Amino acid sequence: MVSLENEDILKSNKAKKRESEAIEETVETPVPKKKKKKKKNKEKETETVVKKSEVEAKDEVSEDGSEENLPFRKDFYSMHEITTGMSKEEVKAYHDEHNIVMFGKGRKKFKPILTFPELGFSKSIMKICSKFDRPTPIQAQCWPVLGSGRDIIGIAETGSGKTLAFTIPALAHIKERMSTEPGKKKGPMMLIIAPTRELAMQSQEVLEEASNIVKIRSICVYGGVPKHSQRHGLKSGVEVVVATPGRLIDLMEEGCCDLSEVSYLVLDEADRMLDQGFERDIRKIIEKTHKSRQTALFSATWPDSVRELAHEFLKNPIKVTIGSDDLAAGSRIKQIVEVIEDRAREQKLDKLLKEYHKSRKNRILIFVLYKKEAARIETNLQRAGWACNSIHGDKSQEARSQAVENFKSGKMPLLVATDVAARGLDIPDVDYVINFSFPLTIEDYVHRIGRTGRAGKTGTAYTFFQTCDKARAGELVKVLKDSNQTVPKEMMNFDLNIKKKEHKLYGAFVPRDYGQPMKQASKITFDDDD
Ligand code: ADP
Ligand code: MG
Repeated sequence: MVSLENEDILKSNKAKKRESEAIEETVETPVPKKKKKKKKNKEKETETVVKKSEVEAKDEVSEDGSEENLPFRKDFYSMHEITTGMSKEEVKAYHDEHNIVMFGKGRKKFKPILTFPELGFSKSIMKICSKFDRPTPIQAQCWPVLGSGRDIIGIAETGSGKTLAFTIPALAHIKERMSTEPGKKKGPMMLIIAPTRELAMQSQEVLEEASNIVKIRSICVYGGVPKHSQRHGLKSGVEVVVATPGRLIDLMEEGCCDLSEVSYLVLDEADRMLDQGFERDIRKIIEKTHKSRQTALFSATWPDSVRELAHEFLKNPIKVTIGSDDLAAGSRIKQIVEVIEDRAREQKLDKLLKEYHKSRKNRILIFVLYKKEAARIETNLQRAGWACNSIHGDKSQEARSQAVENFKSGKMPLLVATDVAARGLDIPDVDYVINFSFPLTIEDYVHRIGRTGRAGKTGTAYTFFQTCDKARAGELVKVLKDSNQTVPKEMMNFDLNIKKKEHKLYGAFVPRDYGQPMKQASKITFDDDD
């Protein structure tokens, strides 16, 4: 359901807005007078923001008629720590070094945090980072933004530490609420939505680790397993829910999961969550969260097709991009593409394994497109004597978890996977990714190959490209060129024009004006004074 206001905004925009414009528009949304007045006293800005968020919360509570949606504080990051410290030049040097670009009103205030203590969060929270030397760039730049209560879009390549980028400020947020609203029995305050069970479980593992240190309770809810223990876990009270959309909606509809206290919402792999398959579910879920919530969208890829929809769920966001603003393939990944005939693929796969998997120990992920294809390749490889498992949607949750475990432990160093395993799974030391079948979207390609070259290591992605994949030839060549990879000359035989994808919600009116110059920003400029 699109709210009327949003629908009007969307329909009145004839030209397709680009990201920055969408952000500007959010910024330009008129603020009711009483909120503007409160902005006057600059020195008291921290305090002001608190009041502003409280005002917002109250306003919306009364609109809602919901007595329980009480205001909460979402900025606990003190301004003086942002404004002191690094000079403008130092910030620029850090941004240049790490290829950081920011958009959004007030972004200049948010200087990167170069060491963990600099963030100023409690020692107990920062203990979670004790095994690391320093914040990764996405953490360094997102923490102050999130700590100040602002909504965010964080884009950074796979393996760049996005989970802790949204988790650390969330812990401060939850702790703050627990200490200022004691005694009241609440529903979850933080909700992380992820597209697959494996990803949800992986985020929850990070939270589990955190919860041993900061005493918060979390639960992971996902489909494919009985609901009983999830229901029970939710009823006994948790501060954090990590969920896949389908099961969460089931539990909400059963009345087991009240999201009205969710004041910190994360969409992980956000572009996937906003894509066609999940859009309706996501709307249903977000509708039930606290209206003054803070919203964080994180992803490695950020296609045009989801950008406008994303802004429906955000208020005055800051966007932080590390590396390319477009599709960013990890720079540490060597990409090899071979144009190949269907029938030649299995033999070539065998040849590649003989070359890449001599030790029979190093981890290799082999991606296919279909569940049946995964099962077939798994069987064929096992027959040929390779120690191999597969992970795909026809397998039970238990078998899927087992396959990932076997792969992680090295017991089964070859894993055949459909795209269900392509996103976000943090498996250390995958040396090679082999794309046996090309994925349906270029974003999936980037996510697949992102399973290698993680946490500072290098990796190789070997991709079979067939004539039937020709619609993605232009996009693939662009990704290869952008990451300075060799483009095989056979790829040049395909039509390399990139067809723009449309979002199903906006497709009807976007293409008419596609390609026209973007509307000039009128009032809002992103200069040094904002
Ligand atoms: P992403 O979500 O960006 O793909 P993850 O959050 O899964 O990446 O993190 C990838 C890996 O990096 C994890 O194993 C995580 O423990 C590790 N990591 C997180 N933060 C840091 C840091 N500051 N320094 C080094 N490694 C980190
Ligand atoms: Mg991730």
